[in-house]
Amino acid sequence: MEKKFRKIGILTSGGDAPGMNAAVKSVTCSALSRGVEVVGIIGGYAGLINEDLRPLTKIDVCDIVSKGGTILYSARCKEFMYEEGMQKAIETCKKNNIDGIVAIGGDGTFRGATDLSIRGIPCIGIPGTIDNDVTASDYTIGYDTAMNTIVDLGDKLRDTAESHSRCIIIEVMGRDAGYIALETGMALNAIGVALAEIPFDKEALYARMKKMREMGQHSFVVVVAEGLGAAFGEALEKEIPENTGIEARFIRPAHIVRGGVPTLRDRNLASTMGDKAVDLLLQGKSDLVICSRNDKITSMDIKYALIVDRMFKNKLKDGDLDAFSAEEIESMKALCAERRTYFEDMYDIINTIGC
Ligand code: ATP
Repeated sequence: MEKKFRKIGILTSGGDAPGMNAAVKSVTCSALSRGVEVVGIIGGYAGLINEDLRPLTKIDVCDIVSKGGTILYSARCKEFMYEEGMQKAIETCKKNNIDGIVAIGGDGTFRGATDLSIRGIPCIGIPGTIDNDVTASDYTIGYDTAMNTIVDLGDKLRDTAESHSRCIIIEVMGRDAGYIALETGMALNAIGVALAEIPFDKEALYARMKKMREMGQHSFVVVVAEGLGAAFGEALEKEIPENTGIEARFIRPAHIVRGGVPTLRDRNLASTMGDKAVDLLLQGKSDLVICSRNDKITSMDIKYALIVDRMFKNKLKDGDLDAFSAEEIESMKALCAERRTYFEDMYDIINTIGC
């Protein structure tokens, strides 16, 4: 039997991402339709500590699906990472009859959600970040919109690069992760993509560029991931002309790609994930993150998801795997291997067909 929840709290935390509002709307409408009240927690975990709450009705969320950013605001809240802040947050939940929380954000947000779950406040995480750096999920909310914005910008930059026979180097967001660089690199017909996950062969890039220029190619696009550090793309701007004779310009669109109208894919991903989150909370589940895996909406234990993330990013610490069975560790390794193969395959294709 479904546990009777009085009220679900919903928050957005970490970096904003287009589609977060569609998730807020979905959670709200899904919960209300099942007779559960909804309250928006303003400014992420800070809103929980400061008791900054706003009851949400269907009318409040009716018109937000097409809006970028987050109507619930977002903030990074250090206080919540300490026991005192956490206890204040729990107090707010108890005082306001919040029986469960849906937390939309990235891995930091999920750490907060698992901490609350352990302390008796059921939480479900929804991956909302343009970076797509939640290894447990094939897609995160905002990723598709950010990539489409980059492709739009890149196409425009290509027009000028073509007219002036230049190479455009575009640095794209993604924090440490190269998903955005990889996918947009392919879509923009980049001659090369540089990301932290795979060693970058500059000499091979120069050779490909020189060959194409000899054949008569005017413009080139190189996509560089933020994860390589600020100096990487800027250095390429000097090194490409030195090594190929081709003029180069470095562009960093930065936060421009984080806002904007969410794509259909992000809206619908957010809508299905939001509904699933409510479903799980009402089933009495907690400490889970919603995932999109092979085009299906599923869920995964948050601690498992955080560790598989660290495994993929080669950031495992001593003892991280102690709580997991041999079978679980094997399936984590399989997921990481799947991600690595995806990166390697896409990278090879770009280097083969990019021009
Ligand atoms: P993004 O990927 O966009 O950066 P994120 O969710 O990873 O999103 P963070 O700033 O890392 O963004 O985390 C968001 C918030 O989650 C923090 O401001 C903090 O309130 C909470 N948080 C992060 N790490 C922890 C932790 N270890 N324990 C408890 N709460 C945490």
